[in-house]
Amino acid sequence: MTETNSILIKDTTILSDSIIKGSVLVVDNKIEEISTNLVDKDADIVINGQNKITMPGLINTHSHVAMTLLRGVGDDQDLQTWLNEYIWPREAKLNEELVYAGSKLAMAEMIKTGTTMFNDMYFYMEETAKAVEESGMRALLGYGMIDLFDEEKRKSELNETKKFIDKCHNTADGRVQVAVAPHAPYTCSEEILKESKKLADTHNLKLHIHVSETKQEVTDLQKERNETPFEYLNNIGLLDENTIVAHGVWTTPEEMKILKEKDVSISHNPSSNMKLASGIAPVNDYIKNGINVGIGTDGVSSNNNLDMFSEMKLTALLQKVNTLDPKVLPAKETFDMATKNGAKALGVNSGEIKEGKLADIILVNTNVPHMTPVRNPLSNIIYSALGTDVDTVICDGKILMENKELKTINEKKVISDAINAAAEL
Ligand SMILES: [Zn+2]
Repeated sequence: MTETNSILIKDTTILSDSIIKGSVLVVDNKIEEISTNLVDKDADIVINGQNKITMPGLINTHSHVAMTLLRGVGDDQDLQTWLNEYIWPREAKLNEELVYAGSKLAMAEMIKTGTTMFNDMYFYMEETAKAVEESGMRALLGYGMIDLFDEEKRKSELNETKKFIDKCHNTADGRVQVAVAPHAPYTCSEEILKESKKLADTHNLKLHIHVSETKQEVTDLQKERNETPFEYLNNIGLLDENTIVAHGVWTTPEEMKILKEKDVSISHNPSSNMKLASGIAPVNDYIKNGINVGIGTDGVSSNNNLDMFSEMKLTALLQKVNTLDPKVLPAKETFDMATKNGAKALGVNSGEIKEGKLADIILVNTNVPHMTPVRNPLSNIIYSALGTDVDTVICDGKILMENKELKTINEKKVISDAINAAAEL
């Protein structure tokens, strides 16, 4: 096999900060050149971009990918019942093999729907790292620590994270990065939260945590500490530009000021928040206050898929109906959330079709009834497209899918392995 190091996407509609007709040249793992007259350039691989929108790969800022195996478990329950009665008993049965099978299934689904990077928190994360390495995707991975205020558990959870950092951080040619991931303030002691921050600072890592997802969680914490969740986390020194917060549904205006001052990034998960009836996150207020917000799917059993196209549409529609203002969250702001805001949150040089950026690129087919006509490519991407319209996926300069065919994953095998694995749960 000859090593390919250049890809030319020819005659395409490029959607990033602006919309241009042209070509994109990828050399090694970077975008080398964007031009309206690159058609004669030589490249190892030439992709015909006609009738396609070429845009940055989508970035899923909050997931638990191996939960694909729990698809369809515990529908129509509130968060605490869902966790206690449906999810946690099944998660207790997880092992390496099951997490690997679930992760591979998730990667097949994510690539097929245009996601090139995700931010994950779960268990047996070395298996997910292995799946990322094999699939060619990019990921920020954290072992989800839960000490339930127990000292012994605290030590073992922190050790698990240390082991995972040593083994997997900055592997797979840099495509796998490790984050420190204490689950949430209601499952983690103050001590483990402080230790988590120390660990993240020592290794210069991101910190990924669930905060202010349900009203109950906020009320409980206020009763116990007389502080709101973000006041508490700020007072123990947890918040800064390396913090990625999943949800932030019940954020107060005072907390909003803290988040802005500390440059915290938020991951908004509209499907999950709606399905578990957690509430509507104040996304429009975050953006108005200059707070960085990305989009996530959360785990599959509260979604129930990993399609970032549907998350983008729901993000826009939910803010409009919540504010009774159709001008809120226009298509471009929503697009930025799923691309460059996500890249900022996860600390990666991608999320834009721009010279010098990592070559994480997707091509979306417009030659289908529901994408016709293309008056405005941006509008079609946010309001008309389905994840299955993604035709070609490039990550780190390598083709992961071409003409809807997965190149790094044996789709049939991954599906049959996942069916067998799910039967054990
Ligand atoms: Zn979550």
